[in-house]
Amino acid sequence: VFQLSVPLNFLGSVYRELRQSLLDMETLFNLQKVNVAVKEKEGAKPLLLTGGEIRFENVTFGYTPARPILKNLTLTIPAGKKVAIVGPSGCGKSTILRLLFRFYDVQEGRILIDGQDIRDVSLESLRKAIGVVPQDTPLFNNTIEHNIRYGNMVASPEQVRAAAERARLSETIAHFPEGYQTMVGERGMMISGGEKQRLAISRLILKDPPLLFFDEATSALDTHTETTLLQNINSILKEKKRTSVFVAHRLRTIYDSDLIIVLSGGQVAESGTHENLIDKGGVYSELWSAQEMKFGDNAEDVALAEDV
Ligand code: ATP
Repeated sequence: VFQLSVPLNFLGSVYRELRQSLLDMETLFNLQKVNVAVKEKEGAKPLLLTGGEIRFENVTFGYTPARPILKNLTLTIPAGKKVAIVGPSGCGKSTILRLLFRFYDVQEGRILIDGQDIRDVSLESLRKAIGVVPQDTPLFNNTIEHNIRYGNMVASPEQVRAAAERARLSETIAHFPEGYQTMVGERGMMISGGEKQRLAISRLILKDPPLLFFDEATSALDTHTETTLLQNINSILKEKKRTSVFVAHRLRTIYDSDLIIVLSGGQVAESGTHENLIDKGGVYSELWSAQEMKFGDNAEDVALAEDV
């Protein structure tokens, strides 16, 4: 009996871990309102990643057929590059991400990753290849450590700490009452929007996926923290040659991208580097001037406050 109890205990804890992660999965999926109608093709093969090129070919999609959001959209996100998608609120930036995850299927056209139609590959391999920092990060009622480890359940405590360090979250955690063991979420300590964003980035760093998406990922941070965090992210991306996509409203967080795609009316209005788009004098350049002016005003406010 005694001999048996050890493995049973062990199994018990594995079971609890597994159940926990399934519950987490469920929470995550509920929070992201996943459409379960998407079905995996019979005999679907795993996605085979070569460089990480993403291509939308003549994609038309609407949540309801009467109201298409993307209209015959064609765009390429080159392998290993940093790409920004900008455009007015509601133009379909987050929709692109949901389609890529296959939370929904396109109505016309196709989406390819390294030449493979995403409807032909297994859902598990597809979702494993993509990491997202969403606009709002779901938190689990658990420790901060567990919440970071969600990015990679088998990560060591050292790896969890290294990820938090790179995401500029470790100093904040050091001030939490029980450090990494502090309970967060609805039944624990509430954490701020900026802390949540850095938590999501820690998760992503731990997951280390080939394709990375940042959906307004640093919008709740102060300028200083945002700048240093973006520098850290850029160095990780360069070091690992990852394909990354940044959805952003504030252009100064993305102007250094290899490619900027401006969406409007469900199509690409213009695309190029920051310099190309400024020279062109189109939508991007107007938006840039408008934001620079606002940013300039803020800078003056700060200077005035410091004078006082
Ligand atoms: P923002 O910059 O404000 O985040 P966005 O460009 O990311 O906007 P999306 O979230 O992609 O915009 O939404 C595009 C359009 O689709 C919006 O008009 C939105 O209201 C609509 N939409 C989004 N999700 C759904 C849904 N589940 N059902 C119906 N309509 C939806």
